[in-house]
Amino acid sequence: MSVGEPVPMRLTILGSAAAFAGIGHNAAASVDGRLLLDCGAPVLTCLPQAGLDPLAIETVLLSHHHADHAFQLAMLLAGRWSTHPERDLPTVIGPRGTGAYVERLLRLAFGDRIATAILAARPRIEDWAGGDGAELSGYRVDAVRVEHTPDLEALAFRVERQGVRLGYSGDTTYCDGIRALAQRTDYLLCECTSMDGPEPTHLCRDEVLRLMAEAPGTRFILTHLTERRPVPGALLAADGLALPLARPGQPRSGRRQATLAEGQ
Ligand SMILES: [Zn+2]
Repeated sequence: MSVGEPVPMRLTILGSAAAFAGIGHNAAASVDGRLLLDCGAPVLTCLPQAGLDPLAIETVLLSHHHADHAFQLAMLLAGRWSTHPERDLPTVIGPRGTGAYVERLLRLAFGDRIATAILAARPRIEDWAGGDGAELSGYRVDAVRVEHTPDLEALAFRVERQGVRLGYSGDTTYCDGIRALAQRTDYLLCECTSMDGPEPTHLCRDEVLRLMAEAPGTRFILTHLTERRPVPGALLAADGLALPLARPGQPRSGRRQATLAEGQ
């Protein structure tokens, strides 16, 4: 890649806070303004604030069916349907039951008449299991099963394009799925809910440090935060933070800001 060539992927954090932390929006991040990783932040506001267009969102990857990751999906779908009915609705990918979940969410959020009309526009909604994958919006997307709460299936995702592999943990405990994902990505947007002791359904700081030690070639960006306490060797996500993700080994280019691959 030559100097000045654009980086292959740009990650924009829209929400970096744990469900009830109150230090930012809930979980959502954009990949190149085209993909959403979860939809817990008020994306119809956050995307424009980050210089991104909600209409450009083609695919939403839902990690699991908790409100802090999914409730703003009703706004995204209804907003698209209401203001630009000529445009396709975003594709929604999530764990088993996502089709039924999105329908319930729309009916709860906007009532039967509007929900039925949105669903009549036939949004593409797919239930995935760990190991499923596809080409979506120009990206290779793969799902990994992770352990969050015992009553719900939860997925982590890997998004790959032009030699950059970005992982997203969703919510998870320290489990085989997240350990494997950490070692097969260049960047991992990883939850770190507790900066102190263990949490029964989430990762804590010590577990994240263990993941980092197991995957020394992976850059960690910590999100789903309860507090912003520094973690050595990792970057803390913040709402609105935009990160160009260079290919590993990609040389520094001209005046462009340093990227995570360059040691930032
Ligand atoms: Zn959560």
